[in-house]
Amino acid sequence: MTAMDEYDQDALERVLKLQKESFLSEGPTAADLRINRIDRCISLLVENQQQLCSAVNSDFGCRSVRVTRMSDIYTSVKSLKHVRKNIRKWMRPVRRPVPFPLNILGASARIHYQPKGVVGIMSPWNVPLNVVFSPLADILGAGNRAMIKPSEHAPNTARLLAELFDRYFDRTEVSVITGGVATSQRFSELNLDHLIFTGSTQVGRSIMKAAAKHLTPVTLELGGKSPVIISKTADLQDAAEKIITGKAMNAGQVCISPDYCFVPEDRLNEFIENCAAAFQSQYPDIEANDDLVSIINESHWQRIQQYLDDASSKGARVVPLSESGNEARLQQARRQPISLVVEPNDNMRVMQEEIFGPILCVIGYRDLRYCIEFINSRPRPLALYYFGKSGAEEEMVRSHTTAGGMAVNDVAVHFACDDLPFGGIGESGMGHFHGLEGFRTFSHAKSVFKQGFLNMAKLSGTLPPYGNRVDKLLDQLIKK
Ligand code: NAD
Repeated sequence: MTAMDEYDQDALERVLKLQKESFLSEGPTAADLRINRIDRCISLLVENQQQLCSAVNSDFGCRSVRVTRMSDIYTSVKSLKHVRKNIRKWMRPVRRPVPFPLNILGASARIHYQPKGVVGIMSPWNVPLNVVFSPLADILGAGNRAMIKPSEHAPNTARLLAELFDRYFDRTEVSVITGGVATSQRFSELNLDHLIFTGSTQVGRSIMKAAAKHLTPVTLELGGKSPVIISKTADLQDAAEKIITGKAMNAGQVCISPDYCFVPEDRLNEFIENCAAAFQSQYPDIEANDDLVSIINESHWQRIQQYLDDASSKGARVVPLSESGNEARLQQARRQPISLVVEPNDNMRVMQEEIFGPILCVIGYRDLRYCIEFINSRPRPLALYYFGKSGAEEEMVRSHTTAGGMAVNDVAVHFACDDLPFGGIGESGMGHFHGLEGFRTFSHAKSVFKQGFLNMAKLSGTLPPYGNRVDKLLDQLIKK
């Protein structure tokens, strides 16, 4: 089968069967083998950096080698090394207390973390290597096999991944499945032992429905609108710089990109000026600047333009953070500066859909409680950001809102902490990966009780036929 062929049901089932058979015949997956597989992933990435960067660049239109090395290759290698360093510790059985009196008679209880078997990875196009290797690190670390279905919107990357994985792995260990939405749909219905899907909330719903056919457990890493609250106590220039840095990353095509931002009403103009200064200092030229990533394709480019036109026609102020660059040439390269949409309302698409592009909505506020109520009246976000110096406010925001993760005085960096579990809640997803929680997501926690040296039921006289001793014992046990 060539790399970009669609996989029909039979072809998918064959790969799955081979992986399952190999998994069963291998027996327990030793730590050395897990580490060897992680090392092969690292070698694949390190030895083929240039080729991988070119594939990503051709999928995006423009995505520089530096950006891909930073956002995809470095982050993936870092996650893989983190698992490699910790895997022996995470694999150890964990002792749990045994109830009295079994505990004094030699009984023990332990959790043994076993690999689940074959885990499916379905991934999006936006950071096309990271979204494969980051979960794969946890999956291989937990001793599983993996079937990977990369996004059809990054076809060069998908094709190259298929080729490289075939070179570094046996197909019974890791297989890449290429193809479009039809293949993805068939993939989501496979009898996998676990499925991790990274993508939009809308597609996530159909994935969960499809996985229900075999009761396949799912981890859903979805998207949504991640808010920022800038406190009256914040250093506005520092906040603007960090928010613009995070927003400009991958042209806003990041799941935890700031989506809308609350700014103290009386400092709205000052914030806008600081945003423009930060953007222009980081991207002095937007036309011939490889640091500025392109919008992935024409349909996403049109979607972003429509958000801006819609917001502007419904009365919002649209502020592009740079006026430089020839419009036709920018459109040709699908590049654009960040635009702020100031004081949007709920009738605008930009406040109804995940932006996933270079637009930031800015909303003035007077009272922090307004921001908290606003956030709580919408689907729970993947990330939430607070900028400020007030411990009381920070605590108020943290404890009165529910989001997948939170960062204080910065954006997006919580993703880089390998020991922090990463995942959404509600419409932004379910389950976690990264670190110990990632290892446990892809492991089965098998509870094993081992009896001690005495038969307690016999000794205590509580075997049938039941008599008064049972009543007395139960009276002792069941009381307030
Ligand atoms: P998407 O949901 O359109 O596609 C993701 C995957 O689903 C692709 O592999 C695709 O082949 C498959 N797919 C598409 N339609 C399908 C269908 N009808 N049935 C079955 N499978 C289908 O997402 P996208 O546009 O590739 O990526 C953008 C989204 O991903 C954003 O919402 C973003 O927030 C989210 N995202 C989340 C994370 C995270 O870690 N939470 C990371 C990156 C991106």
